[in-house]
Amino acid sequence: MLRQGLGGNQGWTRQWRNPDPRPDYDMIIIGGGGHGLATAYYLAKNHGVRNIAVLEKGWLGGGNVGRNTTIVRANYYLPGNSEFYSHSLKLWEGLAQDLNYNVMLSQRGVVSLFHSDGQRDAFVRRGNAMINQGDDAVLLDRRALRELLPYLDYDNGRFPIYGGLLHPRGGTARHDAVAWGYARAADQRGVDLVQNCEVTGIDIENGKVRGVQTSRGAIRASKVGIVVAGRSGQVAAMAGMRLPVESHILQAFVTEGLKPVIDHVISFGMGHFYISQSDKGGLVFGGDLDFYASYAQRGNLPRVEQVMEAGMTLMPMIGQARVLRSWGGIMDMTPDGSPIIDKTATEGLYLNCGWCYGGFKAVPGSGYSFAHLMATDQHHAPAARFRLERFRTGIGLMDEEGTGSQHNLH
Ligand SMILES: Cc1cc2nc3c(=O)[nH]c(=O)nc-3n(C[C@H](O)[C@H](O)[C@H](O)COP(=O)(O)OP(=O)(O)OC[C@H]3O[C@@H](n4cnc5c(N)ncnc54)[C@H](O)[C@@H]3O)c2cc1C
Repeated sequence: MLRQGLGGNQGWTRQWRNPDPRPDYDMIIIGGGGHGLATAYYLAKNHGVRNIAVLEKGWLGGGNVGRNTTIVRANYYLPGNSEFYSHSLKLWEGLAQDLNYNVMLSQRGVVSLFHSDGQRDAFVRRGNAMINQGDDAVLLDRRALRELLPYLDYDNGRFPIYGGLLHPRGGTARHDAVAWGYARAADQRGVDLVQNCEVTGIDIENGKVRGVQTSRGAIRASKVGIVVAGRSGQVAAMAGMRLPVESHILQAFVTEGLKPVIDHVISFGMGHFYISQSDKGGLVFGGDLDFYASYAQRGNLPRVEQVMEAGMTLMPMIGQARVLRSWGGIMDMTPDGSPIIDKTATEGLYLNCGWCYGGFKAVPGSGYSFAHLMATDQHHAPAARFRLERFRTGIGLMDEEGTGSQHNLH
């Protein structure tokens, strides 16, 4: 870096190759988002599979992996989710060393606020589940919380803050660095990252996958993984599948750069609102889904209004900040709010989707477990409950928020 700095930054080389697709691979990953890139990396690193193509219809990192609010945490309650996110957080903690890429993991602590006795009891249970899982949780009463986060409005008559559940190891990471780090490390192990290559069909013969049709021609492979987040329903339909997934928009917002003021991730318990401050100083925040199915990557004004109102309710001081940008991403929402990592009825065709609005923190764990499944045909223990079948049988549903199949209550 020193040499480049002194030399006018003229000598940097490409971080990964830009290959044309070959006609044949051992495995194809459809989708060059966080989960697809991580899957390719762990296939190469953990299982020695190197003859892989990641096919991305746009550019690497142009999907949700570069659009999220970067929160990383392992504060899930239910068995099935709890061990998976715990595994993923441990991978996060070694990721910069593993990829030799600064993913800027900042374990600044995630605080989930509660506003009633009932909500506090629910957080006590959640905190105990986290501790049982080996993760960390600290219950803060109102006084302790006021010392930690003095700028919140504690005296709001409508939503008084009773306290918060602190998850010290939670925090944020730099989202595009995660995509680039996995991309470079996969490329270094021989994986072909093929951009501007849209998959338009999946070739199946006698119940076995044979390859894919793309905007750059047919490509053969005996194993194909679908990892396309908000486009999961469309791509699975190419293999004749109808998924229990709806695509919805989620918006995010960032303000102009400010001096350091918010040194945690804070999530409001009486509305879907959460906020943190980026390393560049912008306040990064978001709220609920827009609540109509769509493939647009931008949202609507009523949700903008709701998010701003929630922010002002929680910390009136942010009314002083100017919002610089807002954007949207396409969420693959499942009825129980939990993901799918599974085989399909077609031999050699695998599915990874349903991450809803929480899939960034899952990137390392999901890639690790999906690579394990694709390479060995065995489910990886931490992700073993993410079966597609649960939506048909009703057995093993994981309803993290206790809100049933109501999307708008997740
Ligand atoms: C506003 C917002 C805030 C969020 N905040 C958080 C957060 O704070 N914490 C958290 O954990 N999660 C968060 N998420 C969720 C998280 O970003 C996603 O769950 C996760 O990124 C999805 O996985 P991915 O990275 O693989 O998706 P993507 O990056 O969307 O990757 C899928 C890729 O598939 C490609 N593709 C689609 N169709 C095809 C095709 N036919 N052929 C080839 N390629 C195709 C797409 O172009 C895309 O690049 C947020 C999401 C949004 C939008």
